[in-house]
Order: sequence, then structure tokens, then C-alpha cells
Amino acid sequence: MQTLSHYTSRAAALNFRTEAWIDGRYVPAASGARFETVNPATAEVLTDVARGGAEDIDRAVAAARRAFDDRRWAGKTPGERKEVLLRLATLLRENLEEFALLDTLDMGKPIWETVNVDAPGSAHFFQWHAEAIDKLYDEVAPTGGRDLALIRRVPLGVVGAVVPWNFPLDMATWKLAPALAAGNSVVLKPAEQSPLSALRLAELAAEAGLPDGVLNVVPGFGEDAGQALGRHPDVDCLVFTGSTEVGKMFQRYAGESNMKQVWLETGGKSPNLIFADADLEAAADKAAFGIFFNQGEVCSANSRMLVHESIAEEMIARMKTRAEAIVPGNPLDPETKMGAMVDARHAERVAGFLASGKQDSRLIAGGERLTLGGSDAFIQPTVFADVPRDARIAREEIFGPVLAIQTFKDDAEAIAIANDSVYGLAASVWTRDLSRAMAVSDALVAGTVSVNTVDALSAMTPFGGMKQSGFGRDLSIHSFDKYSALKTVWISY
Ligand code: NAD
Repeated sequence: MQTLSHYTSRAAALNFRTEAWIDGRYVPAASGARFETVNPATAEVLTDVARGGAEDIDRAVAAARRAFDDRRWAGKTPGERKEVLLRLATLLRENLEEFALLDTLDMGKPIWETVNVDAPGSAHFFQWHAEAIDKLYDEVAPTGGRDLALIRRVPLGVVGAVVPWNFPLDMATWKLAPALAAGNSVVLKPAEQSPLSALRLAELAAEAGLPDGVLNVVPGFGEDAGQALGRHPDVDCLVFTGSTEVGKMFQRYAGESNMKQVWLETGGKSPNLIFADADLEAAADKAAFGIFFNQGEVCSANSRMLVHESIAEEMIARMKTRAEAIVPGNPLDPETKMGAMVDARHAERVAGFLASGKQDSRLIAGGERLTLGGSDAFIQPTVFADVPRDARIAREEIFGPVLAIQTFKDDAEAIAIANDSVYGLAASVWTRDLSRAMAVSDALVAGTVSVNTVDALSAMTPFGGMKQSGFGRDLSIHSFDKYSALKTVWISY
């Protein structure tokens, strides 16, 4: 890691890409409209960006369709596509600090995180999917006789991707890497809070050798650019990461337009179950990471801690110590472990949950909204105990650094509380008893269950939800299922 003064001076010298990227070049919005993107840690405007609307989405989809139909990318061999995406991974590593700074400035997360997690993660995910694509074999059905039935995996065509602001580069990468590797063309709409890294990524992909029109990036707002993509009649598949509320809109857009496939990665309220026989020190360390990492702006944040009643006060004391050890600060300072909320509006929303928690639960640590460096978008790491089951802070996704601790008497009650949620994204279980770990994992309704860790995740394992946390999986070989169709070619001879 470098010093604060290094990152501050590099940040001041950045050259932002601020136009839409369509058909291999930067272009202004057709309407000429622009919107400001703000550094939430200082409340200062970073720059203004082309505000894409329906006409820009039309242009981008048309470019993507042309690129798909003339096979300039889909017609390449998997090995050739791999080479381009591996070059992109290399270029991302060569420009790692720039990407880290773009996301830190645009959404307020610590530079420690973007340098060590987000930017290298993006390069890794591009590399992983690139290396996988020429190792996937098609199938031959066991028809027998004088027939040969091929089951071929083919790209879908034009993929629309709409992503959130919490991991701007990585959430875009989770969609782009498998979609592009599989041979599709893509129109990406980044979140309006954090468009800068995606716009730069598009240019880098072209430098890596991605043909014009294969990747298009249209910055803009959800209601106009996002909706236009969701309703577009020439988009074959729409992949989305964001809130459950907006995910449901994409299902509606698809139903009211061309019945495009829709794959949703949405919200969560993930439980972290701590049994009395667990390693409590390790559980507390990981639980703090599980709720405070990235300011708690993580879909799979372990925002509910369920503790066996016999160890409840011990765990509460441990969580108080951990919460109070994390002090929000300047995201460009490499010592900072918690930055700003993405914007003042979101900080206001999280502060509303702090007020709600103070009314029905016991405040253990934090509980305040802070003003630092001219911005009021900071929230203290906060812990509540004695949280009633029907409390808002126990049921609703806060998307901030707020932990709700509840107690249970036995395994059955722990499972019942854990599953009493509309969400089912992730869960964690802490116990030294292998049988209990397996039985509880079986009973939890969640896309990922982490045992004696939290939020286990890698390029090798699928990530996604159950219930209203969505469906379809990002990452792993299974991510290609969303970006390809099975085509049967039957030959009689
Ligand atoms: P959001 O749903 O408000 O926005 C996500 C994207 O949808 C943005 O690009 C936005 O512009 C667009 N959008 C908003 N309104 C729209 C509309 N009416 N029509 C079309 N597009 C629209 O979510 P957010 O606040 O950016 O992100 C936070 C949410 O994302 C949380 O709920 C979090 O759990 C979820 N998330 C889920 C995962 C996962 O993998 N399950 C990962 C990260 C974040």
C-alpha cells in the first residue's frame, strides 16, 4: 500500500471517462443530458457524466446486435476469446491503482479494499472465466442407431446487464466475464452513483482486442436507461444485481415486452448462527468482517447474529469491542477500514434504521451518523442486542454497518428464526460439532452456507440466492448457464 498523500495526488490527477461507450467509442448522450457524480466522502462533485436514455440504449443495443449477427466475436473460437479476455485481465492489473481510485472516489469505500479486493478481484474473475471457456465440452445424446444428436451450447445474443454501486467494478465483472467469454454482446448500465470504473473498463476491453460493439456501456438512471434496457425488444437476456424491489420490475418489463430471460441477484438479510460450542473469538472476528466490511453495503452481509442464549452476553461484549475498534475515516487513507456510505441519501436511510433500533432494541455500540471532511454520509459501526423478531432492523435489508443480535434456546429455534425472512442469500454457522453443522446447513434456506467462516466466496463456487434474494448464479462454471442456450442438432445418417 502507498501513503495517503500518494493516493490523494494520484486521485487529483485522474482523467475521468465521462461519455457513454457505444460501438467502440465514447459518445455523448443523444439528448446531450448529463448528471453529476459525487465523492460521498467529501460531498464534492467529481465530474459530470453523459445521462443515457432510451435513445442511447437503442443505439447500444443496435451496435451489440450488429456485432453479434456478423459473428465478429461469437464466431471466434473459445480459445481466441480467451486470449482477448486474458489480455484484459493483464491490463486491469497494470492499471490496478487507477481502478481502485475510481471506485474509492465514486462510492466512498476504503482504498485498502479497492487495492486489495475489488480491482485484483476483477482481473481474477476475467482470467478465471477466460480460462474456463475453452474447457467446456458439448454433449452427444445416447440415441444409438443411425442418428447423431448433438447438444450444443450457443451464446444467446444481446445481454443487458444492470448493476449496483456497492462493488462497481466487481459486480460489472461478475456479469461481463462469463457473458463475453460465452460469445455474447453486452450492453451494461452501471449504477448512477458509480459509473466511472465501468466507463474506463470498456476502453480497456477495446485495447485488449474486444471488437467494436461487443461491449457497450450506457451510464444513466434506473428509471430511464435501466428501464429502457429491461423493456428493449431486441435484448435476449437481462441480468441484474440490485434491490429486490427493482428486480421485480425487471420481471415485469420482460413480461410486458419480449419475454427476455431475466436473472436476478437481489437483497439479503443473512443470519449468522453462533452455537455455544463455537470458537467465539474467531466467530466474533469474522462476524465483524461480515457486517462491517464495505460499510455493510454488501448483499450477503451477515446482518443478523443469532446467538445461543448461554453465550449471548459474551458475544455481545466481543461485538462491542470489535465495532468500537473500527473508526470511519477518509477512504483515501490506507489505514481506513470503513469509508462513507454511497451518498447522503443512503446515509439518511441507514440513520432511520438507527433511530428505529434505538426504540425497540438495546444499543451496544455506535448508533450515530457522522460528519467528516465536509460530508455527512458516514455511519458508525453499530450493534444492537435484544432485537425483537418483528423489529424493522431484524427484517429489512439496511445495507449499512448495523448488526442485529438475537438469541435462541436450541437448534430448532435457531433454524426457525434464521429462515423467517423473505430473503435467502447467505447464512453462516459456527459450531465444532460436524453433525450439527451439516444438519443446520441442510435446514437453512440460503444460496451459500458458510461453516466456521462468513460469506465464503470464490470464482470456483456459484453465488446467488433463494426466495426473494433472486435466482440464477454468478461465478463458477454454472454462471455460463445464464449466458448460453442449449441447441439440439440432430443428424440422421
Ligand atoms: P437498486 O436496485 O436501486 O439499483 C440497482 C441498479 O438498478 C442500478 O443500476 C439502478 O440504476 C437500476 N435501477 C433502479 N431503479 C430502476 C428501475 N426502475 N428500472 C430499471 N433499473 C433500475 O440497488 P442499489 O441501491 O444500487 O444496490 C443495493 C441493492 O443491491 C441491495 O438490495 C443489495 O442487496 C443488492 N445487491 C445484491 C447482490 C447479490 O448478488 N444478490 C449483490 C450486490 C448488491
